[in-house]
Amino acid sequence: MASPPDSFEHVARGLDAVRERIARAARAAGRAPDAVRLIAVSKTMPGAAIRAAHAAGQRDFGENYAQELAGKLTELGDLPDLAWHFIGNLQRNKAKLVVGRACIHTLDGTALADELERRAAAAGIARVDTLIEVNVGGEAQKSGVAPADLPTLLDALAGRPHLRVGGLMCIPPAATDPEASRPHFRALARLRDELSRTPRAGIDLGHLSMGMSVDLEAAIAEGATLVRVGTAIFGERRPRH
Ligand SMILES: *Cc1c(COP(=O)(O)O)cnc(C)c1O
Repeated sequence: MASPPDSFEHVARGLDAVRERIARAARAAGRAPDAVRLIAVSKTMPGAAIRAAHAAGQRDFGENYAQELAGKLTELGDLPDLAWHFIGNLQRNKAKLVVGRACIHTLDGTALADELERRAAAAGIARVDTLIEVNVGGEAQKSGVAPADLPTLLDALAGRPHLRVGGLMCIPPAATDPEASRPHFRALARLRDELSRTPRAGIDLGHLSMGMSVDLEAAIAEGATLVRVGTAIFGERRPRH
């Protein structure tokens, strides 16, 4: 309410442009445009920006910081039908802020899975939706499970009463050339195809969360079902402080 009413006018235009890019990329890949869901990454953006996107029909939003997500859930509690996605690094001591409130795209090990399971049981939350983050680029400083460790992790996550794994997620090495991401997207899709052959309770690798502002076309061509787009919708982010 306190924000200037016109300051997020560009958000509806950004959304339109991104929707058009998604539709074009899907058609070019012989896929239905509605097979790709757009997650508007709203980290560091004020609630008013999310309201503007919501008014323009957007419902899925992505956040990277547990505290920021919790604050926005309170601030935007009046908006109907919001679906939240947690796409940042989730520390175990922040898990309770996210469990039951967002689909977690960044599950990367049994320690976090144990914590999610425990929190869900304690809070009476029937299921926690997750995706497994895979470190496709093999970057030492990046989180995510190594591709070679993925089968073991899936075995360890199967059959947990409150945990659902719905697919895989990746953040390829930062690049300005979208074609640089393509081999990583392709590798994630291959892993999904291979690992889907072994049925595991509570695990369905249907979703591929991949593609951001610069490389969403390549991701869609390689099979993305969830694209995570911030800058192309909301504009440049200001540094956090
Ligand atoms: C910030 C972020 C995005 C969005 O990036 P843009 O380049 O602004 O589209 C997507 N995924 C993750 C994991 C992010 O942290």
